[in-house]
Amino acid sequence: MAKLDHETLHREMTAWRRDLHAHPEFGFEEKRTAAFVAEKLRAFGLEVAEGVGGTGVVGTLTRGSGNRAIALRADMDALRIAEQGTQTWRSQTSGTMHACGHDGHTSMLLGAARLLAGEGGFDGTVRFIFQPAEEWGKGALAMLDDGLLERFPFEEIFGLHNMPGLPIGHFETRSGPVMSAEDNFEIVLKGLGGHAARPHAGRETLVAACALVVNLQTIVSRRLSPTDIGVVSVTELITDGTRNALPGLARILGDCRSFRPEVSAAIEQEMRRIAEGTAQAYNVAAEVTYTREFVPLINDATLVDEALAAARTVLADDAVRIAAEPMTASEDFARFLDHVPGCFFFMGNGETAPLHNPAYDFNDEGLLHGARFHAAVVRRRLALG
Ligand SMILES: [Zn+2]
Ligand SMILES: [Zn+2]
Repeated sequence: MAKLDHETLHREMTAWRRDLHAHPEFGFEEKRTAAFVAEKLRAFGLEVAEGVGGTGVVGTLTRGSGNRAIALRADMDALRIAEQGTQTWRSQTSGTMHACGHDGHTSMLLGAARLLAGEGGFDGTVRFIFQPAEEWGKGALAMLDDGLLERFPFEEIFGLHNMPGLPIGHFETRSGPVMSAEDNFEIVLKGLGGHAARPHAGRETLVAACALVVNLQTIVSRRLSPTDIGVVSVTELITDGTRNALPGLARILGDCRSFRPEVSAAIEQEMRRIAEGTAQAYNVAAEVTYTREFVPLINDATLVDEALAAARTVLADDAVRIAAEPMTASEDFARFLDHVPGCFFFMGNGETAPLHNPAYDFNDEGLLHGARFHAAVVRRRLALG
């Protein structure tokens, strides 16, 4: 494949990104996106496997005789959010949009494949992993369960996410914990509903539910060590009561974040104890369902240094830095790090609307930085000679 100047590549990536943005697809429904990716990768001369873990795509590019393999990963899915943007490339699917910039991530990884296929500069094998259903926290596991590591082996993995508020061309990451685990919970209180005028005749659940919401606040404030990070957020309280009827049923739902399995386990244990005790105090019954959706994302210290060094070969020195604090948001990339070491990076999206906001749009100015960063990581980790 003929060499390509980087300005032309940037224009091509912009066209891909806007095409993907106009045609967003929800997790595990990324059929058009996956076909788009596979077609491009084949055109660049890569070996392509489709349907890996549902709608996942893996492209493989080998140069030289080195037997090392590394992976680069992008996510392809969109969100069920109605876009408010008015740009010509706005979503053509009502109620679905690329509000997290996965259209940009996919385009940058395609750009990296195009760069590396055209220019080489490495010795070994690169796996380009395009995963489905990141937002659900289910896509990485689907690919792993479909034999990703056995069919397309690799020793380490790199990925990135855009970050509104960080300037274009700026990259950051950190060693150790980067993003948190996400657990979800539902507590169902069961009593006996009845007439609003006769509370003593039943065992209504709303006052118990309100007490329980308050009591749950003590998990983080009174039970976790002050040096541990934990979040317990109650997000919904739903009852079957109505204007003149007390509820016999109340459901409390929410979301917890943590960085260590021990903290996640402690939150669950305390939640069960508090739900049980509060329910008993109010003479109702409690059923707790606690699920683990995302694992914590832990970067490998050596590969963080390597990725930072690679980033400095293609970006301004002072634009590449170590992030001070981990984030309590979650990311499906973490599942890959359960199997191989790796590093996840954030790149600036400039002053745009926040992620998951209906006015958000990936900033095309960053596309070439992302593609060149991916390529630089490959050239450092699979260095010639
Ligand atoms: Zn997202
Ligand atoms: Zn995202």
